[in-house]
Amino acid sequence: MSRIVLESLTKTYPGAPRPAVRGFDLDLPAGTLTTLVGPSGCGKSTVLRLIAGLAEPDAGRILIGGQPMAGIPPERRGAVLMGQDHRLFPHMSVAENVGFGLRMRGVDPAVIRSKVADMLDLVQLPGLESRRPSELSGGQAQRVALARALVVEPAVLLLDEPLSDLDPELRLDMRDLIRRAQHQTGITTLFVTHDREEAVAVADRTAVMLAGELARHGRPADVFERPLTRAVALFMGATNVLDGRFDGRSVTTSIGTLTLAAPPPPEATAVVIRPERIRLSAGSGTSGVNTFACSIKSLEYRGTHVVATVAAATDMLVVAVPAEAAAGHGVGDPVAVHLPPEALQPVSG
Ligand code: ADP
Ligand code: MG
Repeated sequence: MSRIVLESLTKTYPGAPRPAVRGFDLDLPAGTLTTLVGPSGCGKSTVLRLIAGLAEPDAGRILIGGQPMAGIPPERRGAVLMGQDHRLFPHMSVAENVGFGLRMRGVDPAVIRSKVADMLDLVQLPGLESRRPSELSGGQAQRVALARALVVEPAVLLLDEPLSDLDPELRLDMRDLIRRAQHQTGITTLFVTHDREEAVAVADRTAVMLAGELARHGRPADVFERPLTRAVALFMGATNVLDGRFDGRSVTTSIGTLTLAAPPPPEATAVVIRPERIRLSAGSGTSGVNTFACSIKSLEYRGTHVVATVAAATDMLVVAVPAEAAAGHGVGDPVAVHLPPEALQPVSG
């Protein structure tokens, strides 16, 4: 278990117009699982490569277990990096693949056998020791790769979008497995994903990265519910952003004056609300706080829910309605939307 501290990391690739990572600070407490989420190209893999020692920062510091990593080669950092391309050795059995790192360290064969068996139990693949990688499903191969990474008891586990090649059901299983394995081993883990739901589902902490910089870091529910800035809100799927003039607990927006649950911070410039937090009701009754008459412009069926776009005054709102509740609504119908004060989040930027 090691704490990892990243201090003002900056990295510009040769010839690139701007840094891939800029002034990046992150503190990963020992034994925790942090997800790093952001759109493609925002610099997530570069952060992992810097921690692993596969690239050197232009500025800033990396501390693993309190020790500065400048000049320390990858194999002496105690960090293992596992990507979506897990590359098992094709000519070796599962047991030989998992035990590889221990053999390289000259560990006694009997100890290797027992550790490999423990690891295969942990990733729920007992009894597959003698299989070849070509005889494994994609999900099984991924589990073997995880076992191979964990068996050497690294101080740090770096996972670079490990689930992105798996189909949705396997993703969920593998995600839970990673969470359990991390919990049991206590290895400090940084898990990179571009999927915001994955990011908030498995983590102790979630860090949002946008355009090379750390945009938000905190408990997953806080990051999801209280994005604080417009950019993080949009990335996390808040969708509805209403610019406003704030006055105490009320804010005047294009759809009307809204009441907030708490006084906004002075830097707030807009309020955001997630589609699933807006309530839609039939008819045009608008009694009650934050309730407005509007009309349905479009309805899009998404299986578990229906996405309704509604026109409210001069603006549009996107509302996610449970499928059964949407059945009574049609395009053009007059409806009322209710924006609960506690679901409205002030943001800056
Ligand atoms: P992410 O993992 O979030 O998709 P990356 O860290 O891979 O982002 O990339 C960040 C930026 O750095 C991108 O603009 C990418 O094109 C660039 N980049 C990544 N690796 C290299 C490299 N080896 N050489 C030059 N540019 C790179
Ligand atoms: Mg990447």
